[in-house]
This record gives sequence, structure tokens and C-alpha cells, in this order.
Amino acid sequence: MEYVRLGKTGLKVSAVSFGGIPIQRCTADEAAVIVDKLDEVGMNFIDTARGYTVSEEYLGAALKGRRDRFILATKSMVRDCEGMKKEVDVSLDKLQTDYIDLYQIHNIKTNDFDKVFGEDGAYRALEEARQEGKIGHIGITAHSSDDLKRIVESHAHQVESIMFPYNIVEIQGAETLKEARKSDIGVIAMKPLAGGNLEDWRLALRFVALSGVCDVSIPGMGSVEEVERNASVCCDLTPLTDAELEEIERLRKELGNQFCRRCGYCAPCTVGIDIPTSFVFANYLRKYGLADWAKERYAAMGAHASDCIACGVCEERCPYDLPIIDMMAKVAADFGK
Ligand code: SF4
Ligand code: SF4
Repeated sequence: MEYVRLGKTGLKVSAVSFGGIPIQRCTADEAAVIVDKLDEVGMNFIDTARGYTVSEEYLGAALKGRRDRFILATKSMVRDCEGMKKEVDVSLDKLQTDYIDLYQIHNIKTNDFDKVFGEDGAYRALEEARQEGKIGHIGITAHSSDDLKRIVESHAHQVESIMFPYNIVEIQGAETLKEARKSDIGVIAMKPLAGGNLEDWRLALRFVALSGVCDVSIPGMGSVEEVERNASVCCDLTPLTDAELEEIERLRKELGNQFCRRCGYCAPCTVGIDIPTSFVFANYLRKYGLADWAKERYAAMGAHASDCIACGVCEERCPYDLPIIDMMAKVAADFGK
């Protein structure tokens, strides 16, 4: 395993590390087996969030007795000081530890900055938690280029790490992230597989690792096999071949930038449509040989794209500003319901 320094946090983390979203779909026992595998392959950095339902809880139980072999990061969407203080304590409790290495302000958006960095904001709570020894470092996560720029231009002295989407089809943050690294801010690439849209995981992870833009990538993992395969990429840092560069160009043309990253922030849908899953099945419908499989599973869903009442609630929540209503109409047309 290769280890890298995560900017001014000074933490030495595995170059490919563990994203904790998919573990929500596992059982507690499966989560423990996955953590066994992380330990075995030396993948020492685990990222989770208060918002990932049972993720903190499962990881906390799985880390019992071996907490010191891992570097733990979590995050909260709470924006005020009192609320964030409580969130840190809840995270400590769920993760069954007395210390969290990196605590992040989760998914900051344009209208949140004044609140978060203001007198009674979440940032102050994290500073106090750091002074009290409850957390080691303060980080932030964002999804839009404008918000990323604002962090780097105005708050580089306050945050020690930034987590931002970076992958073959989402390179919009590249220049700003390079600036962040010049300020010695650790850069964590979220969604290195573009939310599962990039199936060639080796190419996707090699692209990020060789980009010079990020320190570490954190693909989400929900199985031992995924841990094994992602860990293996750390040993393959030879330059991208001409064939790989051609494939990167092909993927960029195929996916564009209007695709669902399956983050789930749009939920709940007003009429109960599982929005990201609808998009997954629609993608499979268009793939050779998978149409019947996709139709069968789509038909079994409780609500369908044709049920969309165009209320727009999901579009307000989507951090990628996807035109979900239009995309739903296309899914409905493709499946005929
Ligand atoms: S716009 Fe459609 S998909 Fe989005 S929340 Fe409303 S009903 Fe659901
Ligand atoms: S539609 Fe947007 S918010 Fe919903 S899962 Fe996809 S990327 Fe995330």
C-alpha cells in the first residue's frame, strides 16, 4: 500500500482509502468483515458521515479493539455552533472512540458560508472540539466549483482538508484544487468512480492517483472484493497508456456531465420515486444485453418516473443541479411508464 501525507493535517493515509456510503447497505457483520480486509491490506483511512445512516455505528463496532490502526474522518451537515458540538459528541459515541482524526463540515453551499464561519457557526464548534482534544483536524466538503473557489480564496487558513468530486468526467475542480494544495490543504477526491458510472475502476482510480490534483481518493466500498480490487490499484502507478487516454476521451464523450452520482441527497421524492435507482435502471436499459434485466427490476419499483409531478423539490436538493424533472421524463419515455 502507498501512503501519502494529507496536506497540513500531517496524517499519513493510504493513497486509495475507504468511502463509507455503501456500508449502509451492509449488515453490521458484513461491515466488520470489510474492516478486517481494510486492516489486512493496510487501507488505513476511513471516511464516513453523520448523514450516512448506520455507517458510523457499524464502523464504530467494527473498529473496537483496533481503533488505533485507523485514521477516522466523519462529517456533519449541521451549520450552527451548538448543533455541531452535539454532532461531534454523537459521532464519538457512534464510532465508539474518544477521538476523531478529521471532522468535516459536510457539503457547504453558497448560502451557508456566513453561518458556518460566523460567530455562532459550526466552524467555531469544531475549533473548540479540536482544543478539547475530541477531534484532530478540521476539513470541509463541497460539490460546486464556486463553493470550492470560495473555500480556497477565503478560508484556506481555516481548513486543513477539502473533499471534492474528482474523476475522469468531473475535472472542473482541478485548477482550484491545485491551488488548495499549494496552501498545503489536503485534497480528498470523492466520487472517483463518478458515483458508479465509471465501470473500469482500475482506469478511474489510476486517473485520479496520477492526476497530481488530489492526495487521496475514497471510492465507496460495500464488499471485501471492492476493498481488494481498489487496494490493488495502489501498486499500479505507471503512466497512463495511449489506450487508456483514448478510453478517457471516449468516456467523457459518452457521459458528459449530466449524470446522476447516486449520492441520494435528492431524497425523499414527494411521490416516493427512488430517483437514483431509476437512473441506474435506465442506464442498464441502454446497455447491450441488459434491457430485460432492467425492465424487470424497474417494473418492480413502487413508484415510476411517470408518477413524477414535477414539484422540483429534488432539483433544489441535488448538489449537481441536475434537471431531474427532464431526466425523469426521459426515463418514463424509455420504459413506457
Ligand atoms: S420533481 Fe418529480 S422526482 Fe422530483 S421530488 Fe418531485 S415528484 Fe419526485
Ligand atoms: S439526482 Fe442528484 S441528488 Fe439525486 S442521487 Fe443523483 S446526483 Fe445525487
